[in-house]
Amino acid sequence: MDNLSTLARIAVAAPIDKALSYAVPDALAELIEIGCRVRVSLGRREVVGFVLELSRGSAEGLKNIVEIMDRAPLFGADLVPFFERTAAYYLHPIGYCVKTALPAGLGGLDGAPKILKEKVYSAGSAPGSPQGLRQREILEEVLRQGRTPLSALRGRFGAPHQALARLVELGFLQVEEQELCRDPFLRHSIAPDTPPDLTAEQQTALTPICQVLNSGKFSPFLVHGVTGSGKTEIYLRAIDEALRLGRDALILVPEIALTPQLVQRFRARFHGMEKEMAVLHSGLSDGERYDGWRRIAKGDVRMVIGARSAVFAPLPRLGIIVVDEEHESSYKQQEGFRYNARDLALLRGQMTGAAVVLGSATPSLTSYHRATEGVIELLSLKERPKARPMPEVQLVDMSGHKGEDLLSEPVHEAIVATLARGEQSIVLLNRRGFAPFLLCEECGHSFRCPNCEITLTYHQRNRALRCHYCDYHDQPPDRCPRCAGQQIQPAGAGTERLEEDLERLFPEARIARMDRDSLTRKGSHEELTTRMRKGEVDILVGTQMVAKGHDFPGVTLVAVMNADSSLNFPDFRSAERTFALLAQVAGRAGRADRPGQVFIQTYAPEHYALSCAASHDFEAFYAEDIAFRKELGYPPFGYLTNLVFSGNDTVQVAQEANRLASELLSMAGEAQVLGPAPCPLSRLRGKSRVQLLLKADSRHGMRRILTLLQQRRKTTAGVGLTVDVDPMDML
Ligand code: ADP
Ligand code: ZN
Repeated sequence: MDNLSTLARIAVAAPIDKALSYAVPDALAELIEIGCRVRVSLGRREVVGFVLELSRGSAEGLKNIVEIMDRAPLFGADLVPFFERTAAYYLHPIGYCVKTALPAGLGGLDGAPKILKEKVYSAGSAPGSPQGLRQREILEEVLRQGRTPLSALRGRFGAPHQALARLVELGFLQVEEQELCRDPFLRHSIAPDTPPDLTAEQQTALTPICQVLNSGKFSPFLVHGVTGSGKTEIYLRAIDEALRLGRDALILVPEIALTPQLVQRFRARFHGMEKEMAVLHSGLSDGERYDGWRRIAKGDVRMVIGARSAVFAPLPRLGIIVVDEEHESSYKQQEGFRYNARDLALLRGQMTGAAVVLGSATPSLTSYHRATEGVIELLSLKERPKARPMPEVQLVDMSGHKGEDLLSEPVHEAIVATLARGEQSIVLLNRRGFAPFLLCEECGHSFRCPNCEITLTYHQRNRALRCHYCDYHDQPPDRCPRCAGQQIQPAGAGTERLEEDLERLFPEARIARMDRDSLTRKGSHEELTTRMRKGEVDILVGTQMVAKGHDFPGVTLVAVMNADSSLNFPDFRSAERTFALLAQVAGRAGRADRPGQVFIQTYAPEHYALSCAASHDFEAFYAEDIAFRKELGYPPFGYLTNLVFSGNDTVQVAQEANRLASELLSMAGEAQVLGPAPCPLSRLRGKSRVQLLLKADSRHGMRRILTLLQQRRKTTAGVGLTVDVDPMDML
């Protein structure tokens, strides 16, 4: 036989599309496993790599792996094809994909968050019993308990170290070290809940999901139910069934920090399963996330709740994936590895034979379209349980509105009445800061970010002009830098200004603000939602954050300022986003026994996104918007990929974009190459930006042009190229 060695296919954390082969030295061959991190050399440096595959073969010409960095794998072999498919689909280097999938802190050579360990004692080989009474007691305790961690003995015996050491020395006990997991759950407990009897509608929706769980085949569902119609209850039941069948559950939520109540509901329902649950999100420390991940990889976890990146959680027996609020754009990662977790949930379900349940009150047009085509099974909930009515929505036409006041007359009156009844109001203005810009009233000069092509937002609380795209901030000047005029005024309004207006108009009311500026402290979001639920806030002011999934039983009034501002975005999804935001925030009103009332202030009351939101008519909205998409060939009828070129040198960026554009154009086939054109944000963080939009009628057509792109793109010094497949945001 010739000299066969162990070979490993490694996804290296470097800008290389495909995995590379390395030789595994004999000394490491016993220890290496798929899913471990390794240290390898690449060119003249060393990088982290992830083991995707092991085989036997000739090591000739291959470099050796330098070191194995993990004692146990971080993912199983079953996830490897999934990683490879996603890397190919999003045209992103495979090593970077795996690195993004894993918890933070594992992509560098300096190791990982510290693994905490604890000593565990068990019976030794020595017969008989020791002399001292204390030693005898400890030994008896360990024999009674079996494997006993030090922490358990410490609770009973104070400081037993010396006695334990002696018992080990005498052979009465043996000791080993076991990994300890930091678990944010175990800090506070929660009471179990009692599942309600399902409504007939809920039962009808649940039955087909449970049927496929039994079959173990991939089946996608879309649960479309108005806000508060009991979708979560369906997820809970379906997951319960999956667990009963011995399969694991993965629940994706748009952002855990905004939905702590959902996690609470899962904990209350699956009471006693805390140790088999893991929550993965960015609010945890690196150590907590790492520990949670390792528990999952070991197979100790049955249920994972997490944000976007949890779609990669290495659950070994995945049976059901739930994507709550599937329409949310936060499922799409907007930098680096630009994947969409909702789409990947469907892919993963398909590759592992799991049920995938998408849920929303305002489904994305794409998902709903698939449902109408029969690709996804549609499950509808049309009523709220206990026959709670949907709130009454009024559009307030602001075109005749005069004066500085943000609030229209009807909204003002409604707040007065709501306060008088001791109930709560939510006022939404989807713009943070005091004002979107400062304006010199003499020469019309506005203040722009020196790094980005946008105006600076005026924040009055800390007297700052801030760029919402980069870190730039400055003090507002007293005089206009252009004309030296002194009449510098904030123009337009943000949540800070709205809060100030409300404080002036309703001095007796308790007012709180919910936006990214007011919630910088860890835990402040949860604190505010708790105060809201307890009725300690009368008026909650905020950005779209106030619309996200909250269940505030005391809220009976919702008012939306400037509802059409998001319609003017240069994006084919602007109507979809506006409709979803309005329908979601309207759903916050009247969730308990008292009926809700909603006012939407707008300059475009005739626009279908607003009128359909007012009548709670998703189907009507869908019919309008899908016709427009079809006419223009936008998703779901066409496929898009956005290429963004950026660099310091405007001319060089344009040249590079032109070069690639003409190369792609000559070979595009049925795909269209639109542009190059300056991005709507033509300068960002000091870099000049140009985009090229690829559009194809079929996924196949898009694949063909992307394959060409992969061959043709070359690295040009000074010009970066980001590839965004299925973009959600084209600014
Ligand atoms: P969604 O997820 O669609 O917003 P939820 O599942 O949160 O709806 O349900 C809304 C409210 O109705 C919750 O308070 C929930 O406990 C309650 N609920 C759900 N299903 C039922 C039911 N079958 N009977 C009574 N109450 C229910
Ligand atoms: Zn900026």
